[in-house]
Amino acid sequence: EPGNLAGVRHIILVLSGKGGVGKSTISTELALALRHQGKKVGILDVDLCGPSIPHMLHAQGKAVHQCDSGWVPVFVDQEQSISLMSVGFLLENPDEAVVWRGPKKHALIKQFVSDVAWGELDYLVVDTPPGTSDEHMATVEALRPYKPLGALVVTTPQAVSIGDVRRELTFCKKTGLQVIGVIENMSGFACPHCAFGSKHRSVPLDPQLTRSLEEGRDFIQEFPKSTAYSALT
Ligand code: ADP
Repeated sequence: EPGNLAGVRHIILVLSGKGGVGKSTISTELALALRHQGKKVGILDVDLCGPSIPHMLHAQGKAVHQCDSGWVPVFVDQEQSISLMSVGFLLENPDEAVVWRGPKKHALIKQFVSDVAWGELDYLVVDTPPGTSDEHMATVEALRPYKPLGALVVTTPQAVSIGDVRRELTFCKKTGLQVIGVIENMSGFACPHCAFGSKHRSVPLDPQLTRSLEEGRDFIQEFPKSTAYSALT
């Protein structure tokens, strides 16, 4: 299959049933953990509701350029081992996309999947919006020819969130996306009776991480190896 994803070895989608469970944080942490293993990583942030990754990686307000083969992603570290493309780069006003209608969102997602000049990557981490909407369907369909490795589902210990996870798992099953892991984020303790089997990993609530993000510090500088390395690798 030709195209701009031809040089990308593995594609991982990050899903969550609802917002605020730490999906973007885990996407970022995963990219950092893979980078620590010497991998080249791209992050595709298609979270139209709240593209927060540019903020985390101190890349907000960066301009993306077009070259002959499409959008040029932004390098977020000096070593140029993590490149980022976010809908946030294209929105003048962060609330803009919220009022977009379905077809416009679809068109943007399709373009995002096909028109970013990633070059050679070991991993592409795709941060999706919360839930299982038409946009997810569009993302999965657009990525299908490139045979994604699978999906990482992020949740929190709250029961409500577990119900949301079931919906995500159903979505994966329906769309033929392999679930490669369920991350219980901000968990206060190791889960004693795990509902999701061996694919389940816990990432503790980390006050240092919260503080760092609140103060707007650069994630990569602060946590070059990610705060959750052992859980994510
Ligand atoms: P989502 O992408 O699911 O909407 P975010 O990644 O934006 O969620 O995270 C929501 C909030 O929770 C952010 O303020 C983030 O700093 C915080 N957060 C996420 N994971 C952790 C963690 N493991 N420890 C501490 N704070 C976290």
